[in-house]
Amino acid sequence: VQWALALHGGAGTLDKTDDPIMIAKYEAALRAALEKGTSVLASGGSSLDACEAVVRELEDNELFNAGKGAALNIEGVAELDAAFMDGSTTHYGTVTGVTTVRNPVSLARIVMQQRKFGMLAGAGAEAFANEQTSNPQIKRVPNAWFVTPRRRQMLDDVLVERGILKRATQRSTATLDHAARMGTVGCVALDSKGNLAAATSTGGLTGKLVGRVGDAPIIGAGTLATSDVAISCTGSGEQFIRFSVARAVSERMQLLHESVHDAAKHVIFSTLAKDDGGLIALDARGEIALPYNTVGMYRGFAKKFADGTSQSGVGIFEEVK
Ligand code: ASP
Repeated sequence: VQWALALHGGAGTLDKTDDPIMIAKYEAALRAALEKGTSVLASGGSSLDACEAVVRELEDNELFNAGKGAALNIEGVAELDAAFMDGSTTHYGTVTGVTTVRNPVSLARIVMQQRKFGMLAGAGAEAFANEQTSNPQIKRVPNAWFVTPRRRQMLDDVLVERGILKRATQRSTATLDHAARMGTVGCVALDSKGNLAAATSTGGLTGKLVGRVGDAPIIGAGTLATSDVAISCTGSGEQFIRFSVARAVSERMQLLHESVHDAAKHVIFSTLAKDDGGLIALDARGEIALPYNTVGMYRGFAKKFADGTSQSGVGIFEEVK
């Protein structure tokens, strides 16, 4: 291939029977993000730039659990985690518990580029952001800017279910299946120079405790890029950390010589349990695997082959259109 790209918008999806208008909205949003990444790669841009462009677009779209519209912690605050990794150098940067940075993925990229410290948490990450005043990619917002009525509702449902909040009128908490609490966005890309990159950004799980860190900013769990494969995960973060999911996929490829498809499938369907989540993985030859063990996973991919033909699609449930 000349270049390739895959993205996800989380494994916590709508249900197949949900409002078709909402489903169409998600598909349009996935296409818009895909477009951002393909235009970078098609014009000879780097996999790093493609990942950043895609994830920023998904962060800014309130439909997805990252940036604006992020899932809220138990106190109603958006605490954001993000990661960036360059497969060609294996440098990485991650931030956790960020509360005022509009696009945490860009902050993670700057951390990576410093090449000094890999992971910055909470107040330290905010202080680091304070130093980036001349960088137009780092915009600051009050935490309330991230909060949408839909996520507030989801949090209230969780609080009612846990008996923390009482509701005057009984309302169904149908939005409250396991999946509705999840979501993350991520991108993996291979550029025309053969370099792989991965980026992930998330609000984490609805109703998480203050300070809880998920898998997204843990290199080898929710995010990984090497010279062989780039991976971004979504799902129950504790499970992805427990099994070092991204590293497990790359190790199976390296040590067992499995294809990216077989390795990713094995980890998602044999190592993890049903409804744990999914991942996107892209190898150095442009092969893409998008397995998930949930009802659906917001996802998309695009590829340009050496002969000039191309392929792309977005999907939520079984088929990719
Ligand atoms: N993996 C994320 C976390 O646990 C959430 C998700 O992908 O749904 O923070």
